[in-house]
Amino acid sequence: MKIKNTTIELIKGDITTIEVDAIVNAANSSLLGGGGVDGAIHRKGGSQILEECKAIRNRQGGCKTGEAVYTTAGLLPAKYVIHTVGPVWSKENNKNNQLLTNCYYNSLSIAKNLQVTSIAFPNISTGVYKFPKKEAANIAINSVRSFLESENHHLKTVIFICFDDENYRLYQEILGD
Ligand code: ADP
Repeated sequence: MKIKNTTIELIKGDITTIEVDAIVNAANSSLLGGGGVDGAIHRKGGSQILEECKAIRNRQGGCKTGEAVYTTAGLLPAKYVIHTVGPVWSKENNKNNQLLTNCYYNSLSIAKNLQVTSIAFPNISTGVYKFPKKEAANIAINSVRSFLESENHHLKTVIFICFDDENYRLYQEILGD
C-alpha cells in the first residue's frame, strides 16, 4: 500500500533485526526497560540505549503515555530508537484510543525532525498492555495514514512489524495484502 510517496510494508518478525533508519520501541514511562519488545531492544542494542534513556529521564522525568523520545540504536542495525509509551488498556478509560493514536503520530513527528527515510513500528500496547489487537491495528494504520497525508516528511517506507500471528493476520486483512 502507498500513501502519497510513502510505501507501507507489513513484515512478520523481530524488530531488532530490521535495517531501517529508526525503529520504534513500545517502552514504559520509566524508560528503564521492561519485557516484550522493550526487553529485546535493550538486550540486543546494548547498554548505550539505556544510558541515553537515563539521561532523558534525568532531564525530563521519563516519558508520558502517548508521547515519544529518541535515542541512538546502540548495537542494532537501525540508527535511532524512538521510544513511545502506549496506554495500558482498560475498559473504563475512554482516552485509550487517542493515546495510542498519539504514540504513532508523535513517533512519526520525531522521525520527521530526524529526517529519517524509513521507520518500523511494533504493535504498540498489544502485549503486556492488553490493548485489543484489532482495534489497535486500525488505530495504528489510521494514525500513520493521517500523518503521511497531512505532514511534509522524508519517509519513503513505514513498516509494521508483527511478532505474533494474530497481529500479522489482522494487519494483512486491514491493509489488503
Ligand atoms: P506493550 O507493553 O506496549 O503491550 P509489549 O512489548 O508487551 O508492549 O508488546 C507489544 C507488541 O510487541 C506485542 O504485539 C508483542 O508481540 C510484540 N513484540 C514482542 N517482542 C517483539 C520483537 N522482538 N519485535 C517485534 N515485536 C515484538
